[in-house]
Amino acid sequence: MISRKRVLVTGGAGFIGSHLCERLLAQGHSVLCVDNYFTGTRDNIAHLLPHPQFEAIRHDVSFPLYVEVDEIYNLACPASPVHYQFDPVQTTKTSISGAINMLGLAKRVKAKVLQASTSEVYGDPEVHPQPEDYRGSVNPLGPRACYDEGKRCAETLFFDYRRQHNVRIKVARIFNTYGPRMHPNDGRVVSNFIVQALQGNPVTIYGEGTQTRAFCFVDDLVEGLIRLMETPDEVTGPVNLGNPHEITVRELAERILALCGDGARLEQRPLPQDDPTRRCPDIGLARRLLGWEPKVPLEDGLRRTVAYFDARLRESITGR
Ligand code: NAD
Ligand code: UDP
Ligand code: UDP
Repeated sequence: MISRKRVLVTGGAGFIGSHLCERLLAQGHSVLCVDNYFTGTRDNIAHLLPHPQFEAIRHDVSFPLYVEVDEIYNLACPASPVHYQFDPVQTTKTSISGAINMLGLAKRVKAKVLQASTSEVYGDPEVHPQPEDYRGSVNPLGPRACYDEGKRCAETLFFDYRRQHNVRIKVARIFNTYGPRMHPNDGRVVSNFIVQALQGNPVTIYGEGTQTRAFCFVDDLVEGLIRLMETPDEVTGPVNLGNPHEITVRELAERILALCGDGARLEQRPLPQDDPTRRCPDIGLARRLLGWEPKVPLEDGLRRTVAYFDARLRESITGR
């Protein structure tokens, strides 16, 4: 029997956050979901609302929040380039003021706090695959900087709150993650390609499609986040969490087309500025510290994600 903890999940109505809330409830904890519904939706958590240990509050983490909790997972932040560049100033405020408020909260109630950081702290990396001690190559002036620098500064704040106030911190650097409950208009590559292929529209490859990413299924990622939270206080991270199976964007498109049936074709679009050319996690540290590695092969994860979007698109056609 595990003891019931009061867990705050910011960004809990988003893609990863909603899976995390679900898993924490299944483990017997009480979960407080805080979200301003910028990119998340109530649909993602509708099935959790009847649960007696679940509560959801609409709140923007760039403003203070006074609640009593034992653990905080700070996931609130738009994650897709399209959405974080829509209002870049708000993205930076969310990352930095959100981190300050969650750290202030953790300090007051003596909670553990985990930051959802990102592989974007490595920018367009010169070291490959990326280990945690690589300091990154971020353009601080470009269109991705609101996200990258916001997340980098949040990491700084986490380590300063630990040194200055002894706050118990954990920092996860999350690499590209996909799965059910991504928004159909999320704008990231997996959801774009699947929705385009299912609708018989051209699949949009930015640039030549030779850039690489490594895609982690959401269930594996959530397992890694929970394991990191459960580590002893001296373990702070940063720890990379992602799937080290690296593929090109073009190969991803071909795999998705094969799963969704032919019919759709590939169409080239301009490559966005500062788009990283290669990205793949070195997960040696996560293996050693957490005994964790991804279990779901890309093929299986993509099948499950295609099934999710297929059902959603059918619902929207039939009006259910
Ligand atoms: P998402 O956009 O689905 O979820 C983000 C959630 O945060 C949404 O529900 C959104 O409404 C909420 N939010 C945004 N600004 C907020 C604010 N100011 N106050 C309260 N809530 C706010 O994205 P996701 O993929 O689930 O990402 C979750 C976290 O993981 C983010 O912090 C993201 O940076 C990080 N991350 C994700 C990935 C990935 O591949 N999915 C990779 C690296 C890091
Ligand atoms: N804060 C919060 N919830 C709390 C405690 C603090 O949102 O339960 C916010 C608070 O508004 C402050 C921030 O966290 O702006 C940082 O708190 P800290 O105690 O570090 O700073 P101070 O209040 O001394 O500025
Ligand atoms: N991409 C693409 N077509 C799309 C969306 C994205 O080719 O419709 C590319 C994008 O240029 C990048 C990669 O896919 O090289 C991953 O993009 P995503 O926005 O998912 O995440 P990123 O890793 O860039 O943050």
